Amino acid sequence: MPNGKVWGVGYDLFLSRPDDVDPANIVIPINQMGGMTDEQIGQYARLLIQEARLCEALELSEIIAFRNFRHVALDELSEWFTELQEFEDNENIKNTLALIEQEIESKQRRKKAKASKAEKRREIRSNYEKLLVQIGRRDGFACAQCGISANDVQVDHIVPLAEGGSNDLDNLQLLCPACNSRKSDKIPEEVAGVATGKSGRHSQE
Ligand SMILES: [Zn+2]
Repeated sequence: MPNGKVWGVGYDLFLSRPDDVDPANIVIPINQMGGMTDEQIGQYARLLIQEARLCEALELSEIIAFRNFRHVALDELSEWFTELQEFEDNENIKNTLALIEQEIESKQRRKKAKASKAEKRREIRSNYEKLLVQIGRRDGFACAQCGISANDVQVDHIVPLAEGGSNDLDNLQLLCPACNSRKSDKIPEEVAGVATGKSGRHSQE
């Protein structure tokens, strides 16, 4: 805002800042510059540049804080974090950094949970026949829920994978397709299909 008397930068974004807070504002009275050495002017200029960068960071911080970043990619969140981190002493920016960090952590958690769920599914798929026999020997080749003795019982997670259930035998049971389809986290169709052809053989053992 050079008005002939001062040089300065200010911060004037309208979003979340309470009226009494002006976190970045510096002015240099130009009429004092006559008596200043080049070095002093240089120091002021550096202050101004730093302050201008803080203003930019504050603007970014507010835009981010007002955005719904559920759907922002992890990479972009990390970039924002890096960009703002330098100014973490500022209260506004510190709050935004905390928001970003929270979202990064929860995104990473979800990513990990998804990967581990996929891994558990693969494990079940590759051992499907064996598991079916193991559980069948333990419980009988009947549906654990309705008791029907069906040829096409399916391996089911008692505590669903989606809820963190494991592939341990004590978390597995056999269900008939009707009961299984009533559960939300069922073994994918293609696996159930594979089982259908062969479970009959086992159930007659
Ligand atoms: Zn059933």
